[in-house]
Amino acid sequence: MKQIDILVPCYNEEAVLPQFYQRTCAVIDALPDYAFTFIFVNDGSRDQTLPILRQLHEKDKRVAYVSLSRNFGKEAAMLAGMDYAEGDALVIMDADLQDPPELLPDMIAWWEKGYRDVSARRRRREGETFFKKWSSHVYYRLLKKLSPVPVQEDVGDFRLLDRRCVKALCSLRECQRYTKGLFSWIGFEKKEILFDRPPRAAGKTKWNYWKLFNLAIDGITSFTTAPLRIAAFTGCFLAIVAAIYLVFIVLRTLLFGEDVPGYPSLISLILFIGGVQFTFMGILGEYVGRIYNESKGRPPYIVGESTREKK
Ligand code: UDP
Ligand code: MG
Repeated sequence: MKQIDILVPCYNEEAVLPQFYQRTCAVIDALPDYAFTFIFVNDGSRDQTLPILRQLHEKDKRVAYVSLSRNFGKEAAMLAGMDYAEGDALVIMDADLQDPPELLPDMIAWWEKGYRDVSARRRRREGETFFKKWSSHVYYRLLKKLSPVPVQEDVGDFRLLDRRCVKALCSLRECQRYTKGLFSWIGFEKKEILFDRPPRAAGKTKWNYWKLFNLAIDGITSFTTAPLRIAAFTGCFLAIVAAIYLVFIVLRTLLFGEDVPGYPSLISLILFIGGVQFTFMGILGEYVGRIYNESKGRPPYIVGESTREKK
């Protein structure tokens, strides 16, 4: 019998966990040909999430959990879950039921047809603000243009991964993870199925624009050095324009003599070039910061307690 793990990162999810467990059980009980296990990753929750997980584990032997020593973020939590997975396939699901478990049979069917990475693509997103949808749309298109690997659009982390994909993802140990991009980077036969994303069942979202903005920057800096190249090209372009202007000024001074006015244009040029320089220094800094963070070689997460051994 094939074994399928369901990986659920949880951060302060006491309000939805029982509901999530019930609804997902209803789905997997209808699939008797597979052995399912839950791998809940408690990402340093400050509410009753861990006690609820302990209870579930007591009651149901299919439930395993890994509890991180503090909040490491969803990306690290997902890596932790993958490290502890043992099944032939792994399904990543949010705890808030925004990823409907009813899609599981469909995903498994595609997996059985030979696809190794079956992801769910959002057709519609309910309960999210217009600005969030719009900014995510613009961002994905930008990332797609900049990144050398094809990034999937409107696809979250909700997907079924074959064991091989999980192994590949576990071998990528970077700390500042952008898992959405890593899914594309590892390759393998991919299939997208469509679904309408419902709003959160209960509890509150853990994201705010600042976190999303930072994740967005991580996404760009971990997948492409295009901003550095853009900086270099802009620098070259400005230098060429400046050189031509220099020749023009010298010739004009030689032919027509010197005149003093030109202060406003001088100041605006200095300010403009200064601004461009600072921006590019900032971009450079982003990459240097990444090198710094990764060079420390720290593990991406620390486990506090778990119900199973790491494979
Ligand atoms: N999550 C996590 N650690 C975090 C933030 C979120 O494990 O630091 C989990 C959270 O419990 C949920 C999933 O990641 O299962 C998605 O989070 P959320 O629903 O808040 O994000 P949204 O769907 O609003 O983008
Ligand atoms: Mg959610």
